[in-house]
Amino acid sequence: MNSVDTSMAAAPATPFDELGKTDANFVALSPTSFVRRTAAVYPDKDAWRHGARSVTWAACFERCRRLGSWLERQGVARGTTVSAILPNIPAMFELHFAAPATGAVLNTLNIRLDAVALAFQLDHGQAQILFVDSEFLALAEAAVDASSVSSLTIIEVPDEDYPASGRYETYEDVLTKGDPNWGWRGPADEWDAIGLNYTSGTTGNPKGVVVHHRGAYLNAVSNIISCNLGPHEVYLWTLPMFHCNGWCFPWTLALLGGTAICLRKVDPDVIFDLIARHDVTLMCGAPIVYSTMLGSDARLKNREKRKVKALFGGAAPPGAVIEACAGVGIEMVHAYGLTEVYGPASICAPQTDWQYKSNEERARLFSRQGVTDCLQEHMDVVDPETGESVPHDGETMGEIVFRGNIVMKGYLKNPDATRDAFRNGVFNTGDLAVMDPDGYVRILDRSKDIIISGGENISSIEVEDVLYRHPAVLFAAVVAKPDEKWGEVPCACVELAPGKSATEDEIIEFCRDHMARFKAPKAVVFGELPKTSTGKIQKFALRKVVSN
Ligand code: AMP
Repeated sequence: MNSVDTSMAAAPATPFDELGKTDANFVALSPTSFVRRTAAVYPDKDAWRHGARSVTWAACFERCRRLGSWLERQGVARGTTVSAILPNIPAMFELHFAAPATGAVLNTLNIRLDAVALAFQLDHGQAQILFVDSEFLALAEAAVDASSVSSLTIIEVPDEDYPASGRYETYEDVLTKGDPNWGWRGPADEWDAIGLNYTSGTTGNPKGVVVHHRGAYLNAVSNIISCNLGPHEVYLWTLPMFHCNGWCFPWTLALLGGTAICLRKVDPDVIFDLIARHDVTLMCGAPIVYSTMLGSDARLKNREKRKVKALFGGAAPPGAVIEACAGVGIEMVHAYGLTEVYGPASICAPQTDWQYKSNEERARLFSRQGVTDCLQEHMDVVDPETGESVPHDGETMGEIVFRGNIVMKGYLKNPDATRDAFRNGVFNTGDLAVMDPDGYVRILDRSKDIIISGGENISSIEVEDVLYRHPAVLFAAVVAKPDEKWGEVPCACVELAPGKSATEDEIIEFCRDHMARFKAPKAVVFGELPKTSTGKIQKFALRKVVSN
């Protein structure tokens, strides 16, 4: 199973084979083509808005051509790494078009990393040009100092509250020098790399995930089909663009003639204000973004406003969050994926009869990771040893695998990790799940997040789901705590909602009342939970805390 059927390719030649690819009927797929079309078709629609500034698609395309021509003059060509330490500001959006149009590989770096981690990535990716937001300039300089990159050009990107240092050329300087009529183009080969994204810090050493133009094109289109999007969506940038290229949404927006509402930081009050001011129709984020929004008083203001379609992903959404979202106009779409599959790769596609279910049951159905995304070829849950599909019984645990055209090229300069990720002819995610009888995948955990207590497997996600139902709990994560008797016991790490209180006994009792007793946490640690910039709770850090 899981091998590619090559019997068609090996078949004898037929008269149809004489009709080969020509320039007229074959163009390498690349999302760089979307911006050119949209600039021609919807020149006056806003491409982005940021504070008081806005730029139309015609102007955005001109800025991207200027940037592309300037990059090329710096020697940027096919395979050059162009890096960025930028929040969700216009320069980051425009780089997603301009850098790949030169053939460069866009390497968006996580702004929450420390200088040492950034230095590793600059070295490993062999960055040649680095775009840096003025807020993160000192961090970037420390990273460059700590790295061994020899010739790196820094371009500073100031923003309203973060003025230019005066030490570097700025982004707008560079645009002024560029050619507005630069010949826009895509790659000769759609398999060329478009992005280099280091995997986020919830697990060990970062690996450089290399993605290609073809996959980026397909996932940008897949987003439209899966989320049922239409022309001119107004998209609020709550998901960092440095995370899997914002799940390919810069390219999706270019294709739709949509408008990007830039946002430097996730702040619930600002979010609700921007939703109302710009008539936002779409946003993405980890569940934590939405639970933070739900915890804000500003949510009440959105009650009568238009609905916002919200793609959830990056972590399992707690049922309680799903149930509460509808009350504040957030229409949820649940996706699951990884950096290696360009972000969303499966979708919890709703079935018609789900609307007649109780709120709780509907939330349970929607919290599943779902089915293969529209343009992804294959998703399954398999026995990690044999590669055989697990039964669709909702009980037998296996590993989620993907195969198709929206899977990374591999890990940069890491053949062992690439081979291991692609063993058995599929991409092995390391996520453990069951397949429900209706063919929907339900994640239970990442391989090492399973807590094995007295020989019984406990899914930390299941316990977390219950914890989130407790009225005093704002954020929760459950990790294994070493235990002499049981081997491991579940330990709940809880961040309480502002102004709320709860004791350890109350939390444990609450869990016991809502799930099998053996699964309830045996200990509770209170405090602010460490999170990655994409909102994932850093369980590896919590594991260390509870093990000591
Ligand atoms: P990253 O590569 O940083 O995007 O992290 C990918 C990991 O996030 C996956 O391997 C999953 O463990 C987790 N993840 C992503 N989406 C979901 C989801 N919808 N539900 C549960 N876990 C998720």
